[in-house]
Amino acid sequence: MNKRILLSSPHMSGNEQKYINEAFETNWIAPLGPNVNAFEDELANYAGTKEAAATSSGTAAIHLALELLGVGRGDKVFCSSLTFVASANPILYLGAEPIFIDSEEETWNMSPKALACAMREAKAEGKIPKAVIVVNLYGQSAKMDELITICDEYGVPVIEDAAESLGSLYKGKKSGSFGYYGIYSFNGNKIITTSGGGMLISDDVDALARSRFLATQARDAAPHYQHSKIGYNYRMSNILAGIGRAQLEVLDERVKARRNVFDRYVEALGEIEGLHFMPELEGTYSNRWLTALTLDPNIVKVTPYELIDALEGECIEARPVWKPLHMQPLFEGCKFYPHSEDNVVSKRLFEEGICLPSGSNMTAEQQEKVITTLKTQLS
Ligand SMILES: *Cc1c(COP(=O)(O)O)cnc(C)c1O
Repeated sequence: MNKRILLSSPHMSGNEQKYINEAFETNWIAPLGPNVNAFEDELANYAGTKEAAATSSGTAAIHLALELLGVGRGDKVFCSSLTFVASANPILYLGAEPIFIDSEEETWNMSPKALACAMREAKAEGKIPKAVIVVNLYGQSAKMDELITICDEYGVPVIEDAAESLGSLYKGKKSGSFGYYGIYSFNGNKIITTSGGGMLISDDVDALARSRFLATQARDAAPHYQHSKIGYNYRMSNILAGIGRAQLEVLDERVKARRNVFDRYVEALGEIEGLHFMPELEGTYSNRWLTALTLDPNIVKVTPYELIDALEGECIEARPVWKPLHMQPLFEGCKFYPHSEDNVVSKRLFEEGICLPSGSNMTAEQQEKVITTLKTQLS
C-alpha cells in the first residue's frame, strides 16, 4: 500500500536473465568475457563512437580517461562545479588540482563564459589544464559546441561526463560522444543499470586498448607476471555486462518514459508561479533522467528542504540539486570561476533546486500522489 516512491530505481527489462544464464552456462564468471565484448560493441554502436571499454564504474572510467590524457601530480584539470562528487574525485586520485567552472542558466551546465575566463587566466599563468571535464546534468547536454571551441583554441582535450545523459542528444548526435573521451555510468539509480558499472568511449581505439591494459593491473606482455606501470582492477564483470546488454535494448523506451514523467509534472504544476523546470536547450533532446526544478524564494513560500520533508512524510523520495563542488569542504581552497562577478549560477540552482521522483517504472498513480502532495504544499 504505502510503498516508498523512489527518486530513480532500477527498471529491469525482463531479458537480463537470458544473458546472465548464458554467462553461467559457459562459466564466464569473470571481469571479462563474451557479454563484456558484446556490451562494448553494442554501446559503441549506440553512442556512435569507434569503440567502448566497459569498467567497474563511471568513476573508474573518468579515472582512466584522466590517466590516458597524462594527468598527474601538480597538473590542473577544469571540471563543472554543479555535479556529483564522482566527476572530480579522480582528479584527486591522480594528485592533480581541480579548478571548478560555474554553470549557465540555459542548460545548468558549464558556462562557456566562465570557461573562457578560466582558460585566459591559465594561459597567462603559463599553466594550461591537461583536461576539461564537462558534465551533462540530469540528462541535459551542456553547450558542447561552444565549450569544445574554447578547449580547441587552447588545445585542451574534453572528457564528457555523460553518466546522467545516456540516451540524450545534442544536435542529433548522442550525448557523451562529443569529448575526446566520454563516460557513462550504470549505477543502480541511472537511466539504465548493471547494478554498478561504467563505460569509457572514444574514437581513439589505441587509447581504449591502453585503458583495458590499465584496467587489468597493467600486466606487461611477458610469460611471467611483470609490471612496469601502476594498474587498476577496473573491468566490468561478464555477469553485469549481461544485465547491461538487456538494459541497452530498452534504453530508448526508458528515455521516452522519463520524458513522459517530466511532461506530466509540467502539465500538473507548470502554472504555479515561481516554479521553473530545468530547461531543454534548443537543438538538444534530454533523457530527463531526473525532473529538476527551482523554487523562486521571492514567490514560493516553502523552501526545497521543507518540500523534501513534506514529501518524505508521504513516503516519497525527493532530493536537493547537487551541492556545487566549489562549496564542498573536500575542495576547500580550490579555484572557482563564476558565470559572472555577481551571479554564481550553480549556487543559486543548489539553493533553489529540487529533484522529483522520475523513475521510468513509476506508475501514473504514484506520480499523481507526488503531484497532489506538491500541490498541497505549494498552494
Ligand atoms: C553517477 C555519476 C558518476 C559516477 O558514476 P558511478 O558509476 O557511480 O561511479 C559520475 N558523474 C556523474 C555526474 C554521476 O551522476
